[in-house]
Amino acid sequence: MKLADYSSDQRLTATVNQSVRITPQESDAEIRNITLDVEGGGLATTIGQSIGVVVPGPHEFGHSEHFRLYTVANTRAANASENGSNTQIEICVKRCSYVDEFSGERHKGIASHFLCDQRPGDQIIVTGPYGLPFKLPEEKSADLLMIGLGTGIAPFRAFVRHLYEHLGGWEGRVRLFYGAKSGLELAYMNDQQDDFVNYYDEETFAAFTAVSPRPHMDDPVPLDEQLSRNQEEVWDMVLKHDTHAYIAGLEGMLPQLDIAFADMAGSAEKWQRRKAELIAGQRWTELIY
Ligand SMILES: Cc1cc2nc3c(=O)[nH]c(=O)nc-3n(C[C@H](O)[C@H](O)[C@H](O)COP(=O)(O)OP(=O)(O)OC[C@H]3O[C@@H](n4cnc5c(N)ncnc54)[C@H](O)[C@@H]3O)c2cc1C
Repeated sequence: MKLADYSSDQRLTATVNQSVRITPQESDAEIRNITLDVEGGGLATTIGQSIGVVVPGPHEFGHSEHFRLYTVANTRAANASENGSNTQIEICVKRCSYVDEFSGERHKGIASHFLCDQRPGDQIIVTGPYGLPFKLPEEKSADLLMIGLGTGIAPFRAFVRHLYEHLGGWEGRVRLFYGAKSGLELAYMNDQQDDFVNYYDEETFAAFTAVSPRPHMDDPVPLDEQLSRNQEEVWDMVLKHDTHAYIAGLEGMLPQLDIAFADMAGSAEKWQRRKAELIAGQRWTELIY
């Protein structure tokens, strides 16, 4: 679905409650966890969904306003804000800049800079929610395979918390594969702040991280290698009748995953057949941007 297809007509005001940098200062990447209080209890979201942010213009290229999506990083249970009727939403935003291919000039991403510059008490315009929620199997014995890249960790932060804190007693294997350019850029999972630390003791939970060997050279994040290293278990999960897989992050990760899974399957055709079965059974969900 193209961005222009998302309606931004229903608008709500949100007040920035907190903005915390979750990558260490020495990291080149600034990723922030931003907590929003949405007026009047609107915008109740479910895991896997995103909200829209409208940045008032005018902007450089003449558009009167700028609209971008951000995935919700907290659970529905945490949506009820402390101060009564508002909805509390957390988003994980990476401050982005882009280099113009022709001029070589560096441009600031409009919405990501706007959001990262907000301070507590500031008000912004939000819309949504958008996208299908991550479908959770009914049986707690089902295996869950989560694969995320960069800010694609946001829905999994909410998901894992939901499984172990709200539902409790998840019996199936939960495996999180998470990649970022460098250890410092592992959002919610770096040396300074690890929001998953409470779950490492859970018998059913395991997380595997992958970082680029040469982060300054724009090498791809070797998520595929991490999957291959664990291929016996991963492929066993993929073949199980009730496993659900969730993929979140930048589009560029998909070909890499296809190659890794094709290798496990024995051929690209076999993998595409299995993937089609998973998709048909609503057991393969992508949140890709
Ligand atoms: C479903 C979904 C969920 C998402 N979830 C998240 C999330 O959880 N966290 C997150 O950080 N992001 C998320 N994103 C991405 C996010 O929506 C934005 O795309 C991202 O923050 C960049 O937006 P921006 O406004 O900062 O950049 P923009 O201003 O939109 O710039 C982006 C593009 O415009 C070009 N560009 C920008 N400025 C110039 C210029 N001056 N001259 C020439 N070209 C220029 C760049 O080449 C680039 O391609 C998600 C996207 C989708 C679709």
